[in-house]
Amino acid sequence: MGKQTEKCFGLVVLVPCPYQGHINPMLQLGTVLHSFGFSITVVHTIFNSPDPKNHPHFIFVPISHGLSDQDIAYGQIVDNIVEMNYNCKENFRHFLEKLVMNEAHGEKIRCIISDELMFYAEAVAVDLNLPSIILRTTSAATSYARCALVRFITQSSVLFEGSDSHDLVPELHPLRFKDLPFSLSKDFGKFAELMGTVYGKRSSSAIIWNTSKCLEELTLEKIQQQSHVPIFPIGPLHMIVPFNISSSLITEDRTCISWLDKQPHRSVIYVSSSGSIAALTEKEVAEIAWGLANSNQSFLWVVRPGSVCGSDWIELLPKGFQDSVGDKGCIVRWASQREVLAHPAVGGFWSHCGWNSTLESIGEGVPMLCKPSFGDQRVNARYVSYVWRVGLELEELERGEIERAVRRLILENEGNEMRERVKEMKKEIEDTIQQGAFNLLALEMETNFQIMMG
Ligand code: UDP
Repeated sequence: MGKQTEKCFGLVVLVPCPYQGHINPMLQLGTVLHSFGFSITVVHTIFNSPDPKNHPHFIFVPISHGLSDQDIAYGQIVDNIVEMNYNCKENFRHFLEKLVMNEAHGEKIRCIISDELMFYAEAVAVDLNLPSIILRTTSAATSYARCALVRFITQSSVLFEGSDSHDLVPELHPLRFKDLPFSLSKDFGKFAELMGTVYGKRSSSAIIWNTSKCLEELTLEKIQQQSHVPIFPIGPLHMIVPFNISSSLITEDRTCISWLDKQPHRSVIYVSSSGSIAALTEKEVAEIAWGLANSNQSFLWVVRPGSVCGSDWIELLPKGFQDSVGDKGCIVRWASQREVLAHPAVGGFWSHCGWNSTLESIGEGVPMLCKPSFGDQRVNARYVSYVWRVGLELEELERGEIERAVRRLILENEGNEMRERVKEMKKEIEDTIQQGAFNLLALEMETNFQIMMG
């Protein structure tokens, strides 16, 4: 990424969705736009608010989201997103109106870039005649599948009973029923309504996608054919911004890097099986723990505080487990994931397959062990294991299966072959980034929006 230029192209307002996997790519996008000469203002909820110290060149504007602590802690994500869209809209309108009024004395507002889930921001921007762009933070394959899912649900054309079936879903090759990106919500109607809004007719002028043409060319082509606005697959955004810029909501424990420094080359499996939202039961944690211990491979395990149901942190790990693994295991609350994946001691990544984690693993050439939980993770895991063939999928959280899968990935030829393939993918992505998809977007923002705004 180039240094920030002296030019000032005007102001871009970013509206992230307040979850880690959405905040990261949005702030990475802001970092790249800032390096091109745009000023960046981030409008965010108080809940999961980003740390301004990590982005000293941005202006951060908190707005009230109207959710109670109870809603945030125990509510369904789908419900919270719908509520936030209602509750933030008027506050955002007041903020933007003021910004427009002050424009004569300040910078020209170039556009509003909002997360696909924060559609209230797009509606306000369009009302105020400001250009608006959507940022999509999941894979193109997930979006494509979600559109189909909405259609299936509304037409009841596919039965979802036995959604763990390995049968292929009509129209969605290579996805099986078990790979469909259902949310945790059991309320299909509400989920379908939200997805209908997110993937239905939108009024933005363009879509920025945190994916790469070289990963998802065919799907992107299909989506572009159905879209009336240009799509910019400029990702993976994390590969364009410097390594040391973090937007973590949880403090990163850096002691694990010194632990990794002491481990042999490619000997460690990095385990972050819950990402930033998913949770595990006590029984599942016990299976993971004994699977890792029995594999006899070194592991770095992120156990996010609160991610094991019924405990604050690792209180429910099985008795005797930590003694039995000794120095072979390192457990932290939260890691600097990109730095971990880039470490030479890491030989594999056991991931829940959130899209950011998937891109980060591919971006560092690290093969994966996939155990998705819900939503887009299921689609990503299918692509990692079946389409790109750079990972293994765990069918069950069962200690014997875990032990075998870890050994296959770290020790066996199969793991080496996946490592070779993922390194090739990494190279292709780097080449695609070099071809300058981002420059095209910046150009579009400088020229097109100037024309649109007169
Ligand atoms: N992450 C991190 N440290 C950790 C675990 C995760 O920084 O210990 C980051 C990870 O690098 C990724 C994000 O959290 O950028 C999780 O996003 P993802 O889309 O993979 O999963 P989700 O947020 O949907 O669970």
